[in-house]
Amino acid sequence: MPLDQSLVAQAIADRRQWAIDTLAWWVRHASVLGQEEPAQSYIAGVYEDLGFSTRLEAVDPEELRDMPGFSPVDWSYEGRPNVVGVHDPGRNLGRTLIFNGHVDVVSPEPVRLWSSPPFEPRVVENEEDGESWMYGRGAGDMKGGSMCFLWALAALRDLGFEPASRVELQSPIEEECTGNGALALCMNGEAADACLIPEPFNETILRRQVGVLWFQVRVLGKTTHVLGAGRGVNAIEKSWVFIQALRRLEEEINQPENIPDGYKGIAHPINLNVGIIQGGDWASTVAGECVTRFRLGLFPGERISDLQARIEKCVADAAADDPWLREFPPTVEYVGFQAEGCEFDMDSDFARTLKRTHRQWRGSEPEELIATCTTDVRFFNLYRGVPATCYGPKARNIHGVDEKVSLDSMQRVAEVLASFIDAWCGVQAIPQTEPEQ
Ligand SMILES: [Zn+2]
Repeated sequence: MPLDQSLVAQAIADRRQWAIDTLAWWVRHASVLGQEEPAQSYIAGVYEDLGFSTRLEAVDPEELRDMPGFSPVDWSYEGRPNVVGVHDPGRNLGRTLIFNGHVDVVSPEPVRLWSSPPFEPRVVENEEDGESWMYGRGAGDMKGGSMCFLWALAALRDLGFEPASRVELQSPIEEECTGNGALALCMNGEAADACLIPEPFNETILRRQVGVLWFQVRVLGKTTHVLGAGRGVNAIEKSWVFIQALRRLEEEINQPENIPDGYKGIAHPINLNVGIIQGGDWASTVAGECVTRFRLGLFPGERISDLQARIEKCVADAAADDPWLREFPPTVEYVGFQAEGCEFDMDSDFARTLKRTHRQWRGSEPEELIATCTTDVRFFNLYRGVPATCYGPKARNIHGVDEKVSLDSMQRVAEVLASFIDAWCGVQAIPQTEPEQ
């Protein structure tokens, strides 16, 4: 017998203030790259409170290096753990489940553009769409999403129930730059019958996502005092040569005849971003070196190595037309994302159960999302055979200024997830522990 929907709705509503307060505390922990630990310790405590046996797990790049989907880095993993929480009832009456939500957030800079400090969350009632919103970096992407499964589990507990099958909670680092946190959890941990990641995709189900490649191009110039600038070669200005060439490559990739069926109808699905440019070291010296960092998407089924070859050819061709760059060719280097695209089977048992649960609560079919970004679902789908998708709340301005998440949308997602746990894992009465003698 499925749980009574009105009981679930009431239990979720009763937990709303707890969910808002817990989310606000979590957002206050500014978990940007390299500073994830306090946020991880905080959420580990929440997992424990919900009855999950919880541990912090170090991420070891040496162990991951030869795994599929690994992204190379030039930074340290010291003091930057993943968190895992396990509920294991001993035997599975239903199917097993992983809830995964990354802890890392992107930089809020430039902070002065925000209406209020990004790590001091604030709630505004009755705003956009007549809903209540929490502002803060990470409130949307994706601590608000992760709160939805914690909210669902908390409400079930209040009703006296726990999942009747193994459920694992995962809080990985580095979804925003490599995915190496989720790779470690996915490949080292136990598999499951499904993995759900509540990224802030507006209550849609993720059907397909692009891959993402990070690369950087390093160019040398010829350093001189500006007095003799005519005889120097400025590495910053030379970088413009291949930035323009890579923009032309982007346009070519997005030509209608080059777009595969899965992305037809999506305007400009593959995006190049010039993210960081670092060059020169003195205002009165002609810049001697410049490194430009890029992000470029790729379609599902496309190989990372093929895109790398295309980028390297594009840069080399542009350099061949320039007398200086012909003599001192720029080099292409890879640090960060080497993420393939992937697809989720919308006819799988998992997809059908999630769609049915959404329909029960919302009265209509959930929309499917074709994403032009990547998420951690790729590891589970591509390398572990665990069907994985995203279903999470509505958010605005993620990665931007005044990021916010709809608390009402979070509540709706929590409702659906509570019923989904019931439908997928089954629920059972929480066993009473023996009173101590
Ligand atoms: Zn995210």
